[in-house]
Amino acid sequence: METVRFEELQLDASILRAIVDMGFEQASPIQAKAIPAVLAGGDIIGQAQTGTGKTAAFGIPLLQKVDPKNKHLQAVVLCPTRELAIQVSEELRNLSKYLHGLKVLPVYGGQDITKQIRSLKAGAQVVVGTPGRVMDHMRRKTVKFDDIKMIVLDEADEMLNMGFREDIETILSDIPEERQTILFSATMPKPILEIASKFQKDTEIIKVVKKELTVPKIEQYYYEVRPKNKMEVLSRLLDLYAPKLSVVFCNTKRQVEETVEGLKGRGYFAEALHGDMKQLHRDRVMNGFRNGKVDILVATDIAARGIDVDDVEAVFNYDVPQDDEFYVHRIGRTGRAGRTGRAFTFVVGKEVYKLKDIQRYCKTKIVAQPIPSLHDVANIKAEKVLDQVNGIIESVDLTKMIELIEKKVNEEDYTSLEVAAAFLKMTMGDNNEEIEEYKKTTREYNKSREYNNRNNNNGPSKGMVRLFINIGKKQNIRPGDILGAIAGETGMAGKLIGTIDLYDKYTFVEIPKEYADEVIDVMKDAKIKGKTINVEVANKR
Ligand code: AMP
Repeated sequence: METVRFEELQLDASILRAIVDMGFEQASPIQAKAIPAVLAGGDIIGQAQTGTGKTAAFGIPLLQKVDPKNKHLQAVVLCPTRELAIQVSEELRNLSKYLHGLKVLPVYGGQDITKQIRSLKAGAQVVVGTPGRVMDHMRRKTVKFDDIKMIVLDEADEMLNMGFREDIETILSDIPEERQTILFSATMPKPILEIASKFQKDTEIIKVVKKELTVPKIEQYYYEVRPKNKMEVLSRLLDLYAPKLSVVFCNTKRQVEETVEGLKGRGYFAEALHGDMKQLHRDRVMNGFRNGKVDILVATDIAARGIDVDDVEAVFNYDVPQDDEFYVHRIGRTGRAGRTGRAFTFVVGKEVYKLKDIQRYCKTKIVAQPIPSLHDVANIKAEKVLDQVNGIIESVDLTKMIELIEKKVNEEDYTSLEVAAAFLKMTMGDNNEEIEEYKKTTREYNKSREYNNRNNNNGPSKGMVRLFINIGKKQNIRPGDILGAIAGETGMAGKLIGTIDLYDKYTFVEIPKEYADEVIDVMKDAKIKGKTINVEVANKR
């Protein structure tokens, strides 16, 4: 498969620098095609869904085309929901970290409009907004479209499903014609093509053409996890299956490094393999892997190309790959030369749809599995220790040890079985901390299942309402603060509170519908970490 590096795409040095900071190693397939096309100035429809790197596919060329010295609005991105608008503007902000003077502003319903107007007046070159709110600003003349070079409709099919067609058409009609119009959509229904023919010129459709691929016949499993539990689940699977050699795949260099650190911290022999490493260093790591000094390689897709080791017993997709083809390449690292192999994929939230796509396209079955409990892991660990015990009893003179145990049994009134059990527990390193961690992870897992059971629109779970709070990570807020404040102020049980999603400046929290009014009412006078807050129902347009 062809590798396209960002350096080949004629990008500004400051954008490239931000991409390096984000840890991206190569352009995803949709980026490799869309970035040059958008830079060339044509109108395009990009067919790609979440998880393929689509935001950066239009975001990188968009930022490159905006002039940071001109303070007028130059690009508009329309998104179906407030949450997506926030996510997209965060990605654009990360990518424009070194573009001094460039401002990206999210605008959406529910947020104080006077504040938005002030920010718009201060000058923002890029606005990311929901159609309703952008229309609102248009009517108030608080956004001026004179200098607009580009408009992007992100998740266009979703916007149409949500009834935004008329708003979109009004906005598109109001923007000067010499603009570039970019549409991104997961599906290609008729209305999308109608909008394209009405508002685009010489549309080019860009999608990743899929090759016929043969998937190796190996067992493939997936686990629904929350991002912060991935390390715990990975170590459980490593303990449970005890593969001799395994490869863990991550999407970015940054994630590779974090994962290696996590694994080493837990006592595994893991090493990183990514594109930034010098050949000598790579050779050393690969030799270590071949001769058994390294059990686990943690790699990016590019770096793993050169792995020609036959007895890799397991492949872990720590991140869902950005492309179906990557998946097939990754799992092909195991089950080679007729050996058995297993592939495990971790899935977060909506990524489950990406996995369905992979299954459909690769005509393969990836089976959902519950996260193994510590109990399962403990049983396996015990079996292993007891196997070693057999060897010792048969080959080592234990007379001295037997005398010591006898003494202990006589003095303390224990049975030799109890003493053996205590030794077993010590050897397994099983302690209460682990049990507590297990309970926590299981709780998180149940929550993540609930999250995944939601509908495709990112709506709240059944019977729940999603609230928006204008405070987030930047104010040092943690999920516990939100939970504590809501439970503390309203007296409702903390366990009734559902998923809490923290962003830099905002938080979304789910609570049961019947509590919504009360929570909003009580919380409007409350403070979190000394800060006055605003709470309201999310998903306003
Ligand atoms: P999206 O498809 O835009 O929702 O992106 C999914 C995730 O992939 C986001 O967290 C991006 O930051 C990340 N991402 C985008 N492009 C790349 C890339 N070339 N390499 C690795 N990760 C990427």
